[in-house]
Amino acid sequence: MMKLKELGLLAVMATILFWIVVLICIFVLPLTVSLGAAYFAVTFVLGSFSPNTIEDIALAKMKSISPLAKFATKHRAPLVMAFVLPMSLVFDTFFYLRTQFIVRSNSAPDMHDQRVEEVQRQVKQWIADGSQRPMATARPGWLVISPKYMTYKAGVHKVKVDMYDVLELDEEAMTVRVEPCVSMGQLSHVLTAKGYTIPVLPEMDDLTVGGLICGCGIESSSHLYGLFQATCTQFEIVGADGELHRASEDENPELFRAIPWSYGSLGFLVSATIRIVPAKKFVKLTYTPFDDAAAYCKYFEEQSKLPEGEAALFVEGLVYSKDRAVIMTGNMVDEVGDDAPLNAIGSFWKPWFFKHVESLLTGMGGANDGAEVVEYLPLRDYYHRHTRSIFWEAQDIIPIGNHPLFRLLFGWMMPPKVSFLKLTQTEALHRMYKEQHVIQDMLVPINKLQLSIEKFDEQYQLYPLWLCPMKLFDVPGFVQPKIDEHMFVDIGAYGVPESARRGEFDGEASGKVVEAFVAEHKGFQMLYADSYLSRDEFRSMFDHTLLDKLRKATKAERAFPEPFAKVCHKAGSTADAATGKAKKTN
Ligand SMILES: Cc1cc2nc3c(=O)[nH]c(=O)nc-3n(C[C@H](O)[C@H](O)[C@H](O)COP(=O)(O)OP(=O)(O)OC[C@H]3O[C@@H](n4cnc5c(N)ncnc54)[C@H](O)[C@@H]3O)c2cc1C
Repeated sequence: MMKLKELGLLAVMATILFWIVVLICIFVLPLTVSLGAAYFAVTFVLGSFSPNTIEDIALAKMKSISPLAKFATKHRAPLVMAFVLPMSLVFDTFFYLRTQFIVRSNSAPDMHDQRVEEVQRQVKQWIADGSQRPMATARPGWLVISPKYMTYKAGVHKVKVDMYDVLELDEEAMTVRVEPCVSMGQLSHVLTAKGYTIPVLPEMDDLTVGGLICGCGIESSSHLYGLFQATCTQFEIVGADGELHRASEDENPELFRAIPWSYGSLGFLVSATIRIVPAKKFVKLTYTPFDDAAAYCKYFEEQSKLPEGEAALFVEGLVYSKDRAVIMTGNMVDEVGDDAPLNAIGSFWKPWFFKHVESLLTGMGGANDGAEVVEYLPLRDYYHRHTRSIFWEAQDIIPIGNHPLFRLLFGWMMPPKVSFLKLTQTEALHRMYKEQHVIQDMLVPINKLQLSIEKFDEQYQLYPLWLCPMKLFDVPGFVQPKIDEHMFVDIGAYGVPESARRGEFDGEASGKVVEAFVAEHKGFQMLYADSYLSRDEFRSMFDHTLLDKLRKATKAERAFPEPFAKVCHKAGSTADAATGKAKKTN
């Protein structure tokens, strides 16, 4: 039962939300609808702002399409500006207020126990009903950030795991205990307000703890701390038996090692305990531009491999063409020194971060034209530096999004939520994203960086590329080093390749070439995006020893689809994917 104080707080929050929605309807909606209408009118009369937009590519590939679908495809950008931006604002406001309510009423721990019992009840009911179809979370495909359509969801028994709260901050043990649907934006808000952060804070606001643990998560501090999962000290899952299982280094250590990358194939994660570290207010960031591939690859590797104490806390690279890149190294600091300016890059009127970095390149004619630059960034601005522009995907969705006037008037509403963007995808756009668009992160040994850039250039010619170093610890589990090199680099390619704009790109063929290259060099694919690996290739890239053992021991084989069935195209039909009876292709 809610206490009087909680009811009062809830009433205040509900009132605030009500008035915010009213204000958005009165003041914001007319503004965004006018913007959408103006953009529509201009592009209708004059044509697209840039040649071969993603909408043009989508339409070029559709043989037959109804006039209405064609119209909705061609004019998605104004639709996004008019409606998706204010919808995202309402959703974010609701969530922000909800988090504030939970934190202020301190009601999360009590409610957590009830929510765990509810997950257990659903699993036990599934057992009582004869365990017909395997289970997966009920989280709908449109809500997750991954661009993939979760076809397997149609064939599974869905279990609601609606758990969105930060449970406990333990300042003595230096840990934070959270529920699986807590997002990175939510966590960084709560923790930085108390002077803490987590060692690896993946930067898109909407990424969730559950997805980053059961899938994979990385950030520019991963060369010191490893993947997101490596910073966790305890997991709690509800297994196939409907019981709650706790796993840590000391308690069920094998289960603890098997949960990362398990894609829900062992049970439902209901809580995670993550290490915290003291946060400082700013990041002092040094940008080093290069116009030579060998030089930036060497520098990036050196910086990533410096011993702890000497290494910068953050190392990241943005590659703008095969030869030109900016490598960034940074450390947290308490104050802004007088040796460099403060750049609050997260402010809505500021240029998108990747555009700002690009302006520092040699020979680009930018303000700096190639010299090393130092800046201070507020900590949260640094963490979420790629959020406003969804890395660089937003430039194709809202082509005028980085225009100074747009930023000034509408930048505070950016970015549109990836979930809502998915709802605006027509069939033509869906096919375009599947076949002509690349979203891919590959983890390759860092000594193969230059070779990998050449391979990405040959197959995708897609820039910028994201470089993020990552240490792989030698512990049993799904992903472990197969060679002496333990430092890896995540190479991320996001967007539409130039060849797709010319109508010459085959996403599947290129994807397979890159996958084969990564496998040959003992690397790994980050599985949230397209994977064309066959089951055998998948099982050879990822070590299934521990996962298979535990799935058998805990009777999870019938209860949950195996990871391959969830993440790979070759898993076959929806029904096959759900039951794990995937096509055995080579
Ligand atoms: C635009 C974009 C930007 C991205 N940016 C970054 C980035 O900056 N850094 C980074 O590291 N990654 C990034 N990613 C990839 C991201 O790490 C993965 O998508 C990751 O899996 C988190 O996504 P999610 O929170 O939507 O999880 P989901 O996609 O919902 O979950 C991933 C998997 O985990 C399983 N799972 C989730 N919750 C539970 C649970 N409670 N119990 C059991 N199983 C569960 C699900 O079965 C699912 O298969 C990005 C992806 C996109 C599309």
